[in-house]
This record gives sequence, C-alpha cells and structure tokens, in this order.
Amino acid sequence: MNIAILGAGAMGSLFGGLLAEAGAPVTLLDVNQQHLDAIRRDGLSLDTDSRPRNIRSLAALRPEEATEVPDLLLIFTKTWQIPTALGSVRRLLGPHTWVLTLQNGLGNVEAISAFVPRERILVGVTTIPADFLGPAHVASHGGGQIRMGYAAGDASTDHPGHRPFNGCCMLCQVVDLFHRAGLRATADPGVWAAIWEKVAFNAAFNALCAVTGCTVEQIGFVASGPEMVLAVVAEVIGVAHAAGIPANLERTQTLVLRSFRTHAGHQPSMLQDILAGRPTEIDSINGAIVRTARAHNIPVPCTEMLWTLVSLIDARHAPPGPASSALPKSASASKDLAPVS
Ligand code: NAD
Repeated sequence: MNIAILGAGAMGSLFGGLLAEAGAPVTLLDVNQQHLDAIRRDGLSLDTDSRPRNIRSLAALRPEEATEVPDLLLIFTKTWQIPTALGSVRRLLGPHTWVLTLQNGLGNVEAISAFVPRERILVGVTTIPADFLGPAHVASHGGGQIRMGYAAGDASTDHPGHRPFNGCCMLCQVVDLFHRAGLRATADPGVWAAIWEKVAFNAAFNALCAVTGCTVEQIGFVASGPEMVLAVVAEVIGVAHAAGIPANLERTQTLVLRSFRTHAGHQPSMLQDILAGRPTEIDSINGAIVRTARAHNIPVPCTEMLWTLVSLIDARHAPPGPASSALPKSASASKDLAPVS
C-alpha cells in the first residue's frame, strides 16, 4: 500500500517513520523546508522507548512536488490546517485514495469530505504521544493505542461504496499495516464514543492549562481546578449523548482524575502552542462542542468560557482586521465609552 503522510510534524513523522521501517513505501508531505531538507540529508531520527534509530527510506517532499497518487493519505496537520493542506494535494486524491484522520477534535471528517467522499474516509483517535524535537528528529515515549473506523458506517461491517483493497477491507488492511509497524490499532465500531471521550479530556485539560499556564498537576493545586475539569467533562459527555454518541462519563472521569498523577508535569499541546505563539486547536475542540450543544439547546457554560478565553489569546497573536471586529455595532459606534483603568 502506497502511503502519503500530509503534515509530517511530531505525529506524521512518527507514524511515517514507523510505517517506512516496517517496509511500506511512505512519502512525507510538509511545508517545513528545514525539516524536509534534514530528512533528505540525514534520514529521520526517531526516539522511542524501544530504541533510538535513523530511518532513511522516507521520501520527503513539499505538497506541490508530489506526483504519486497514494492508496492511503494519512493527514496529521493541525485541524485548522486541513483545508489548505488538502487543497494543495487535491490532484493526488485519486478515485481510490482513502484518507485517514487521527487528529484531535471534532469536524475533521466534515473538513476532509470537501475533498474526498465520506465513504473513503477512515476516522479514529490515538493516545500515542509524539514530540517534535527539531528538524528530522521526533520522539515518542509512553506508548498508547489507535482506535479507528469508517467515517461513513459501522467499523464492524463492510459499508456501502467500500472497495476492497487487495481482497480485504481497507480498514482491516490499515489495522494490519499498523500492527506490522508496531502501532497498536483496533477497528472499533464505537470509534465515535472514543473520539468524544478524548475531546472531553482535551476540552477540559488542554483549554484550562492553556488559559492558566498550569501543567496538568498544577490544575490540582486548588480544589476548584479539578472541579472545573470534571464540570467540562460532564458537559461534553452530555452533548455527546444528545448527539446520539454513547460516550462513557465514568470512564472519562476516571481517566481525567488519573491524569493528575500520570501526566503530572505535562504541558498539553494547547499550552505549548500558546507559549510558542502558534494558533491553537481550540475551535475544533471547545468550539465544536459549543456549536453542537447549541444545536441541541444544551448549556455548556464552562466549555464555552474556556473557548472564549483561549480564542482571545489566539486573537492576540493574530488580531482580526477592523472590518471583522466582533464588537456589537452600538459599542464600536460609541465615541464616549468610559476608559477602563
Ligand atoms: P505538528 O504541529 O507537530 O505537525 C503538523 C505538521 O503539519 C507540521 O509539520 C506542519 O509544518 C505541517 N503543515 C502545516 N500546514 C501544512 C500544509 N499546508 N501542508 C502540509 N503540511 C502542513 O502537530 P502534531 O503534534 O503532529 O499534531 C497533529 C495532529 O495530531 C493534531 O490534530 C493533534 O491534536 C493530533 N495529536 C497529536 C498528538 C501529539 O502527541 N503530538 C497526539 C494525538 C493527536
């Protein structure tokens, strides 16, 4: 199976490196020229718990340089980068190309289906961590797993419109491929519940750490910290249930509480993005939850407050132009607003 990885940062390079090491033909597609040049020159350095190694069998190209139509395109950009990234490889998305997203957040399938029919999208969630240490150098420590299914239909069955790949269903092929690469993957009929449970976790910890600058452990320094985390989790699981997704509240709460110990010193990626001055994925996490909640008339005050606060931090780095000011008309027209001291 011919594989392209679109967005070869921390996760894309890790998955691409492991798949290439297992013998799959893999092309990394990215816009980080330094990273691409270093991979072409020195190979990809991959540090995992088993051993550090260097992988030299990867092709590394800018999206516009690629010509080969992949059987599977694994997208690992940040969620807000999906439209631009897929737009730049539109010509590579052949009638038999499948796209797999394991990105965090909600709305990724919808964004991808502007380019590929939903019947050729695989969707999932992963707890495998990865860190981008510098050009051509990624690390992953601690392990994790992948759960995935068809975006259109049930992972337990072959869904309509599905074309068997080499005599076996595409989902089975990808699961098998991942296993051979040492990536623990399962085809999961309950994949949407797993996705929402991770979204609940991220909406709570990522956003609260992003706003406060706290590590996961530090959120536990005042009693209302864990209370707020649990309140967000309860809100998100409530929205999932209203949307017909059987996400499990108790399991998610247990995971969250355990994380105060297991992820103690961890700075979630949203906090790392803010500290580095990069846009966050808040809109596809808390933002997407609020939009779904509104569609079901469910109040989610804690999730919404965190969405607003992180969005304001994002906007500080990339302020909107005067034409797109979000101020109500009465406020922007008024000349005699009292000064704020
Ligand atoms: P990252 O920022 O390290 O990687 C994103 C890559 O996309 C970068 O290399 C960037 O140059 C590239 N990119 C941006 N625009 C592009 C374009 N137009 N064309 C091609 N490439 C482009 O991010 P990451 O940590 O690897 O995360 C990727 C996704 O996986 C996110 O949705 C994240 O939430 C999710 N995720 C991350 C982890 C983790 O531990 N890092 C774990 C689970 C899920």
